[in-house]
Amino acid sequence: MATAARPRAGVDEGVGPTALMVAAARAIETHRPDALARDAHAEHFVRAARSSAHWPVHPRDVPDGEADPLWGRLGRYFALRTRALDDQLLWSAHLGVRQVVLLGAGLDTRAFRLDWPADLAVFEVDRPEVLAFKQRVLDRLDARPAARRVPVAADLRGDWADALTAAGFQPAEPTAWLAEGLLPYLPAAAEQRLAAAVDRLGAAGSTLAYEARLGPESAAVRDSPVYTTARERLGVDLLALFDAGPRPDTTADLTARGWSTTVHTPFDFTRHYGRGPRPEPHDAFAADRWVFATR
Ligand code: SAM
Repeated sequence: MATAARPRAGVDEGVGPTALMVAAARAIETHRPDALARDAHAEHFVRAARSSAHWPVHPRDVPDGEADPLWGRLGRYFALRTRALDDQLLWSAHLGVRQVVLLGAGLDTRAFRLDWPADLAVFEVDRPEVLAFKQRVLDRLDARPAARRVPVAADLRGDWADALTAAGFQPAEPTAWLAEGLLPYLPAAAEQRLAAAVDRLGAAGSTLAYEARLGPESAAVRDSPVYTTARERLGVDLLALFDAGPRPDTTADLTARGWSTTVHTPFDFTRHYGRGPRPEPHDAFAADRWVFATR
């Protein structure tokens, strides 16, 4: 990696470090012999940010391996989610979709990693600070996307749809939308507005994949090792970052709007791919649902 000065803070605050956590998980996964996904850029993001510069980026940095609650179990959860959604997006492209919108893109490098049709556009929506940090690291690496990549700086709690269309998004074309690791951080009203905007901008043939968390969680789940290790080792308090209010039923909302939905647990994908987290008592992942909607 180049040894230029680290980019200024921005990804180090608020919910930004959660994007670094997913990047670190992908960096570690990249070096596993049975990797579900490989991301050559991930470790560069982790090393470039002040808050994550010392985090693990390789399985040899994780002495307990898969038994480690943070980089073993949560890390493999992120890798499984990455792979399942890679496959879903590539399938949409295979069916002819030529626009992908990553809502809360964070340090996602799908625009670079995946084998896209040459005429496909990937819109990456996130906070300006996160996208600026990402761009500085990518520039330093001289990274070249495999699709037309369009960063869109916007707050997803506000009116982000105008920024997306101003960036060249075509509402009349079918789109593969993705909200991966985003909705739990948004207030319920913002999630409802997001679903309404996707419905408004989602032409026939569009898909939406998202991760939702059922709540509220029991005290035993809130004390589970996934949460406590992230807080104690990284200073990332996921439970404090998640929106504390009741969650909306976005699946019912989309169904009422005419979308077809299928709801899975992460464990369905552990079975499908043959690796990933398996259920355990007081499991933080038991509240997760991965929802696939089609118009
Ligand atoms: N989807 C990416 C992935 O899986 O690698 C990133 C997931 S990360 C856990 C959550 C991302 O959502 C962060 O990049 C954060 O900046 C973004 N995010 C959270 N709230 C947001 C908001 N109100 N507006 C824009 N982005 C937001």
